[in-house]
Amino acid sequence: MRVVTFVRELQDLLGEERVLADPLRRHVYGKDGGIRRGDVAVVTLPATVGEVAEIVRIASRHAIPVVPRGAGTGLAGGAVPTSPSLVVSLTRLTEIEVDVESSTAWVGAGVLNLDLSKHTAAFGLHFAPDPSSQAACTIGGNVANNSGGPHCLAEGSTVNHVLAVELVTAAGEVLMLGADAPDPVGLDLRGIVVGSEGTLGIVTRVLVKLTPNPPAARTLLAAFDRVEDAAATVSGIIAEGIVPAALEMMDQPMTIAVERFVGAGFPTDAAAVLLAEVTGHPAAVAAEAELVRAVAESNHATRIRVAADQAERDLLWKGRKAAFGAVAQLAPDYYLHDTVVPRTKLVEVLAQVYDIADRYDLAIMNVFHAGDGNLHPLMAFDASQEGVLDRVHAAADEVARVCVAAGGSLSGEHGIGLEKRDLMPLVFSEADLDAQARLVEAFDPDRLFNPDKVLPTGSRCFDMGRPVPEGIWI
Ligand SMILES: Cc1cc2nc3c(=O)[nH]c(=O)nc-3n(C[C@H](O)[C@H](O)[C@H](O)COP(=O)(O)OP(=O)(O)OC[C@H]3O[C@@H](n4cnc5c(N)ncnc54)[C@H](O)[C@@H]3O)c2cc1C
Repeated sequence: MRVVTFVRELQDLLGEERVLADPLRRHVYGKDGGIRRGDVAVVTLPATVGEVAEIVRIASRHAIPVVPRGAGTGLAGGAVPTSPSLVVSLTRLTEIEVDVESSTAWVGAGVLNLDLSKHTAAFGLHFAPDPSSQAACTIGGNVANNSGGPHCLAEGSTVNHVLAVELVTAAGEVLMLGADAPDPVGLDLRGIVVGSEGTLGIVTRVLVKLTPNPPAARTLLAAFDRVEDAAATVSGIIAEGIVPAALEMMDQPMTIAVERFVGAGFPTDAAAVLLAEVTGHPAAVAAEAELVRAVAESNHATRIRVAADQAERDLLWKGRKAAFGAVAQLAPDYYLHDTVVPRTKLVEVLAQVYDIADRYDLAIMNVFHAGDGNLHPLMAFDASQEGVLDRVHAAADEVARVCVAAGGSLSGEHGIGLEKRDLMPLVFSEADLDAQARLVEAFDPDRLFNPDKVLPTGSRCFDMGRPVPEGIWI
C-alpha cells in the first residue's frame, strides 16, 4: 500500500482517524441512495469550517476532484464520484445556534433535518422543508439539492427558508452569501448556491428561517375507486382557494406495500388514496377540513377518515414517509424517479407511466406530492437479474421524456446529479446550458467540485472532466 503526499497532508491536518483511506470504508462512500456507484480515493471528516477550507486547498494543489457529501441519501447520484475523488463528509459540522426572537438559526451543514426541528420544538418552531428522508438527510444536502417534502406545498422548498449560506470556494476562501436582512443588497448569490448540487463550493453553515408550529392541524385520508377522482379532488381543493399544508397521493400498489409495512389502516382496496393536511388557527382549520371533505365527496370518495388526534396523525404520516422503505418487502432494489407535470396532466401522465412499466416488464408504484404535480414513480427490481438495470434506466428515461412532453420538468426536488444530466438538453437550449456552465466556471474555474454533475459534457467549450494525476491512489 502506498500512502502518497496527498493523503499524508490530509492526515497531518485531521489526524489518521478522520482520513479514511482503507478500501472497505472508501467503498461505503462510493454510493448514495440511488443505484450508481463511484470510485472514492479518500474520505475526510472535517469538524470545522477552517478544516474544510484547508482540505480544499490541499485538494486544489494536488488537482484532486472534491465531492461534498452529507448523509448520502440523495437519489440522483450527486454524491457519487465519477473518478477517484476526495469525498468531504460534512456530518461532523453539527452546531445549532437558535435566535428565538428573530425565528432563525445558524445550522451546521451536517445537522440532520429532523434533529433541527426537534431542537427548535422547545421554542414552538420548526424547519418547514420535511423530506421523507428527514431522519437521515443533512441540512447541507437539503441546501445543495433545494429539497422539498410533503409539507412544502404551502411553505415552499428549502430555498424559501435559507437566508444566508457560508461557502468554502475552490480557492479555499470562506464566503458569506446572503444575510439576516429580508432584502440584502448585492447579487443574490445565496439563491444560486441553493440547488447547485455541490458544484459551486462546500456549504458549511446555513442561516435558516424557522416556522412557528401551527396552533391546529387536521389530517384527512380519502379513498377513491379511480385515480381520476383523486386527481380531480386535488385540483378541486386548490380551485376552492385552499392551499393545504400537504396534499399527497398514493396508488394502490404503493398503498398495499405501505399498509403491510406500517399497518396505519390505509385502505388497500382503493385505486388511490389522498392524504390532505390543513393547518393554522383552529376555526380556519375546521372550516378548511370541511371544505376538503366536501370536495372529496363530490369527486366520489368512497371513504374519508379524519385523524382523531396527534397519535393518529403521526401514524398516517409515518405511513406516507415510510413508503420507500416499504418497498424493501417486495424487491431488494428500487429506482425512485422524480419529475414534475402540470397538475392537470397528472392522470394522463400516470397512464403513460404504467404503460412504460408494462413495456419494460417492471413493477411500478406511485407515491407523490400531488398538490404540486411532483411525481415519484418507483420501480422495484432485483439488480442481480441480468439486463434489469438497462431496462430500469431505459424506462426512467422514457418517464422523464413523457413528463417533459406534457409541459413538466426533469426534477421536482431530488436534483439532476448524474442521473438526469444527459437529459438536460430536453429542457435547456445550448445557450441556457452555456450560461450555467459559465456560472460554474466563475465559482470554480478548474472544476474541482463535483465534476461531471448536473451539466452534460460540452455545455461549455472547456472539458468538464479532467484526468486524475497518477500515483496518488492507495
Ligand atoms: C427514502 C428517501 C426519501 C426521500 N424523500 C425526499 C423528499 O421527500 N424530498 C426531497 O427533496 N428529497 C428526498 N430524498 C432525497 C434526499 O434525501 C435529499 O436530496 C437530501 O436533501 C439529500 O441530503 P444528504 O445529506 O443525504 O445529501 P447527499 O446525498 O450526501 O448529497 C446530495 C447532493 O448534495 C451535495 N452536498 C451534500 N452536502 C453538501 C454541502 N454541505 N455542501 C455542498 N454540497 C453538498 C452532494 O455533493 C450531492 O450533490 C429522499 C431520499 C430517500 C432515500
